[in-house]
Amino acid sequence: MKRYNALAILREGLRLHRGWPRAWASPEPKSEYDVVIVGAGGHGLATAYYLGRNHGITNVAVLEKGWLGGGNTGRNTTIIRSNYLQDPSAAIYEKARALYETMSRDLNLNVMFSPRGVMMLAQTEHEKRGYLRTAEANALQGVETEFISPARVKELVPMINLEGPRYPVLGALWQARGGTARHDAVAWGYARACSDMGMHIIQQCEVTGIERRGGRVSAVNTTRGRIGCGKLALIVAGHSGRLAEMAGFRLPIESVALQAMVSEPIKPMLDVVVMANTVHGYISQSDKGELVIGGGADGYNNYTQRGSFHHIEETVRALCETFPAIGRLRMMRQWGGIVDMTGDRSPILSKTPLPGCYVNCGWGTGGFKAIPGSGWAMAELVANDAPGPLAAPFSLSRFREGRFIDESVAAGVAH
Ligand SMILES: Cc1cc2nc3c(=O)[nH]c(=O)nc-3n(C[C@H](O)[C@H](O)[C@H](O)COP(=O)(O)OP(=O)(O)OC[C@H]3O[C@@H](n4cnc5c(N)ncnc54)[C@H](O)[C@@H]3O)c2cc1C
Repeated sequence: MKRYNALAILREGLRLHRGWPRAWASPEPKSEYDVVIVGAGGHGLATAYYLGRNHGITNVAVLEKGWLGGGNTGRNTTIIRSNYLQDPSAAIYEKARALYETMSRDLNLNVMFSPRGVMMLAQTEHEKRGYLRTAEANALQGVETEFISPARVKELVPMINLEGPRYPVLGALWQARGGTARHDAVAWGYARACSDMGMHIIQQCEVTGIERRGGRVSAVNTTRGRIGCGKLALIVAGHSGRLAEMAGFRLPIESVALQAMVSEPIKPMLDVVVMANTVHGYISQSDKGELVIGGGADGYNNYTQRGSFHHIEETVRALCETFPAIGRLRMMRQWGGIVDMTGDRSPILSKTPLPGCYVNCGWGTGGFKAIPGSGWAMAELVANDAPGPLAAPFSLSRFREGRFIDESVAAGVAH
């Protein structure tokens, strides 16, 4: 892999940028791999990367029905934080947040991690009690957060309206080392590093069936032919139910469209991420100057990748209450992604009823922030055929045993 650095840019500049190699290869599929991963989103690619880096397993293919990063990984509002309530969640999200800190260096690609601070507004007494409790839990977990006063909120976000027409701002849960990263770059960085280790990333290759032999998984059928595999990891977010059906089991997952939008670009006006969960709207400003806005999830199951119209109206109304100054901005684009929701709003990283087949899903509206931690834990599970401490609490068996990891305050509606 040609390293990206100042010297390489200078050298290529002098020869009109004709010497850059492709960032990752596009090979033809082989007939068999040790591990096949379905889904080249952030979680699939990160799993492949840590299989190679931490476990020395590189005979790996990542199969993607569209283009890599074209699912939810390239459609989210890029918020990164680890201020969850339950210990297993704090462990995996904080592991991920810490890995984001060094990701650009580790992958030799600038993922534009920007720890600008994430603020979750408390706008009802109930929400305030919830965040005060989370701040206490985070202190015990070693996750740095604090509950801040309305005056401090105003200091950090001068344009905010503390006295909203429906809900006043009563304070906020503040994580100073939370922030954002460039989502495409995260997928590209992992893809480039995986390709460099000799792994195959095969785009335009949809998995249409799963074969078993001798009681365990043996191959996948794809739009580019049959591909044998020693182990199979299903990491397809909102399409997890469909892949599980092919493998012969069911998942406690619902698929719904979640949407986001961006405004026209304007001069810098907001240098933190603000989440207003009661009125339901999230906002940050991208380096291009656009306001990146997260909206709600549809109230019914679907695979539309658009999201229903009334959510746009509700999200814009919520943000105009909290930030009246943005009322005259024009919206540039709106889109949706298919998120995979579990009942307890926590993910699944697990072995499945089909030996040799593993599943990673259920990140719902908030899995971008988890990508490196999830990849780390999933690689451990696939390599050892047993979960390590990060993945163990998130097994499928928790639904049978009633051992839920309830994150409805941290992740019920938040990203
Ligand atoms: C609008 C929106 C805003 C969000 N905001 C945030 C946020 O601010 N912060 C945060 O942390 N999270 C956020 N999320 C959630 C986050 O984007 C997801 O949890 C995360 O990206 C999931 O990554 P993934 O790799 O599991 O899935 P994906 O990126 O969706 O990748 C799965 C891949 O599998 C492929 N696939 C599916 N079926 C097949 C098949 N049969 N064969 C081959 N390939 C297949 C798909 O094409 C896709 O590329 C948001 C999501 C949306 C939609």
